[in-house]
Amino acid sequence: MIANVIVDVPSQNTNRPFDYEIPEKFEGIVQPGVRVIVPFGPRKILGYVVALSETSSFSSVKKITDVLDVIPTLTEELLQLGKWLSKNTLSYYISCLQVMLPQVMKAKYRKELWKLTEEPLGSELDPLFDGRAVVDFEEFEKSGIGYHTLRKHMNDGDVDVHYEVKSRETKKTMTMVQPNLNPMELEAKLEDLSPQAKKQRTIVEYFLEYPDAIEKKRLLDVLSTTPASLKPLIEQGVISEFKQEVFRDPYGDRDFERTQPFPLTAEQETAIQPILKTIEENAHDVFLLHGVTGSGKTEVYLQSIQEVIDKGEEAIMLVPEIALTPQMVERFKGRFGSKVAVLHSALSAGEKYDEWRKIQRREVQVVVGARSAIFAPFTNIGLIIIDEEHETSYKQEDRTRYHARDIAIERGKTHQCPVVLGSATPALESYARAVKGNYQLLTMKKRMNESVMPAVDLVDMREELHNGNRSMFSIMLKEKIEERLSRGEQVVLFLNRRGYSTFVMCRDCGHVSECPHCDIALTFHKRQNRLKCHYCSHEEPMPTECPECESKTIRYFGTGTQKVEEALQELIPEARVIRMDVDTTRRKGAHERLLKKFGEGQADILLGTQMIAKGLDFGNVTLVGVLAADALLNLPDFRASEKTFQLITQVSGRAGRHEKPGEVVVQTYTPEHYSIELASQYDYEQFFNEEMKLRKAFRYPPYFFLTLFTISHPNQLKVQEVTQKITMFMQQKLSDQSYVLGPTPSALTRINNRYRYQCMIKYKKEPEQRKFVERILHYYEDEMKQENGLQITVDFQPYQ
Ligand code: ADP
Ligand code: ZN
Ligand code: ZN
Repeated sequence: MIANVIVDVPSQNTNRPFDYEIPEKFEGIVQPGVRVIVPFGPRKILGYVVALSETSSFSSVKKITDVLDVIPTLTEELLQLGKWLSKNTLSYYISCLQVMLPQVMKAKYRKELWKLTEEPLGSELDPLFDGRAVVDFEEFEKSGIGYHTLRKHMNDGDVDVHYEVKSRETKKTMTMVQPNLNPMELEAKLEDLSPQAKKQRTIVEYFLEYPDAIEKKRLLDVLSTTPASLKPLIEQGVISEFKQEVFRDPYGDRDFERTQPFPLTAEQETAIQPILKTIEENAHDVFLLHGVTGSGKTEVYLQSIQEVIDKGEEAIMLVPEIALTPQMVERFKGRFGSKVAVLHSALSAGEKYDEWRKIQRREVQVVVGARSAIFAPFTNIGLIIIDEEHETSYKQEDRTRYHARDIAIERGKTHQCPVVLGSATPALESYARAVKGNYQLLTMKKRMNESVMPAVDLVDMREELHNGNRSMFSIMLKEKIEERLSRGEQVVLFLNRRGYSTFVMCRDCGHVSECPHCDIALTFHKRQNRLKCHYCSHEEPMPTECPECESKTIRYFGTGTQKVEEALQELIPEARVIRMDVDTTRRKGAHERLLKKFGEGQADILLGTQMIAKGLDFGNVTLVGVLAADALLNLPDFRASEKTFQLITQVSGRAGRHEKPGEVVVQTYTPEHYSIELASQYDYEQFFNEEMKLRKAFRYPPYFFLTLFTISHPNQLKVQEVTQKITMFMQQKLSDQSYVLGPTPSALTRINNRYRYQCMIKYKKEPEQRKFVERILHYYEDEMKQENGLQITVDFQPYQ
């Protein structure tokens, strides 16, 4: 038998299966979806079996070296999905397969060991081999002796090569103890034991009463004894020890209070019926659940999932990474208990691996997770939900540039199950599809418990400045914060981090400290007093004087969360503030700890970035402040208005979620901008209409498709030249309904000493366009091979 294997080498030449013979010992184990180690050139590498065949069209095929799985890692469906994804994103099949798997299952898989057969070798190899029989390949490479020397000795037969698969997939185990004898034999044993062997007697008595295997630690605990007392019984074969795998459970130490489904409101009932019906009929359909924050969307999700569980099927629930708060997890664990697996980036590699395998082994029926959970290896999916479907984090921005929404719909078709997209502020594309009738629109306009969306006050910061207030807090916001503090209520302050940076600038000459490898200002990290680049790993100490003019007035600038915190403390010294940003939440569990502290009322103000905009539900929060609403508006991005609208709406939703009414203060320099004005009125439909007009006029999605080409190379001239050529080629060849933009330098023109330029096409007809893009890439294939380091990437859904 022959296995068709996709090897772990992402390149054009290897973007097809290679044939390998299945050695007899692996027959029956090697099947599609299984990971294998195969010889490839001089190396042994990881590969994925995608199909089996009787024969190969090649005259000589090598043998599979090793097999890594018993249960296939990838299901037939996922193998097909990988193909589809590869075609749709124009990325390598191998990248598409790997994007579906937890990190530990794909990287640094193997370690090669080189073994000596004979006595230590001649002079060349001596320094390293000195007396040792087995040498670590990586160590060997580092020694500088070099691979070629070793090859030579291999060919001469001096050295034998021995490969060992060293997986990073470490499984956690515990030691168990079990009786080897049946109760009658145990009775007999008890008679035999001398009365002095008290410890042994208790152990035998224990197993007479409880014949099941028990964790060793617990047994010793229960009987208050030591491992030494087990030893004689093990030696006599009365009991034995064995290891058993335990899943690391990130939430194992917590008891989730079980919740019951709420009786649904009329609006919820109307929304859920068509979903339930589609589940029942095993049909595929896409629903857009447009419901204001607090309208009870999550309860609709929960009850729909319940239906799927009852049917014996599985559900995938996607939540944006930053919304995967402990509160969110609690709602799912509270309803479905151990039927839920959770996947997000704050888990350790081991935890993620274990959660993933729970899904693979069908030990759970629900997965709640961030973007990549869309690839959960379930085989009987009955429902896929994407909450906050407009979120940018559903789009992967490197390698395989996929959007989770597209994957959801593709899998929904395969499994013939409904896909529910939920949001208070749907992506313009999604809403347009719903209006057109491609998606079924479900609307929920009322908040729970009669509560209304909080009133929004817009504060014109230009006027504040005019009136002599140079602080980043308006008079109104300051007064309202103080008012809440005096009433013992809580405040959430939101700062848009994008558009701000804490860069270092000389006040005399205007010199800005930039990364020497990337065209970007370095970010000041106060605690370490160092400057760091957020795109590469470069860092340097904070200068004490300006490198340009030697002035001492060099200092950090801009409004990072740290600075806001300081200003806030100055303004209202008695306020207890919790700051939540990338710096304060870096450590594992920090996010949860800070939220818990705030929830328990140990602080008055929660100050944070994007990560506090979603999913928080604190009853005592009655005021939300948005410090600079227009920070996003100034980005060179056609979605700027849409993002601004979404953000203000999301943040406002954090106030007044329970009995106490809420209020929102939005500080802005452009209160007249339609996205800010309409967001303050919670008027999504009107915003949609306004924005659609502009999109049409400027030929942007959803009226046009976009394709972004990014060309990069260490030589700037080369990049300019290629980008120019591609742009011209497109201008000549494209049909009337397409428009070419560029070439322009990318927003970050230099990253890691590579220059990046881009050009973009706007087009009407998708299939035609894809063929065209493939032609361009094909045309540059050779050049990319020859020109070391020339890279052309294509993104069919840029600027999400
Ligand atoms: P959304 O997901 O739309 O923001 P949630 O599902 O979080 O809304 O609902 C808001 C609040 O109302 C939550 O505290 C939730 O427990 C509660 N809730 C939801 N549905 C009902 C219902 N039918 N009856 C009573 N309370 C409900
Ligand atoms: Zn200077
Ligand atoms: Zn850098």
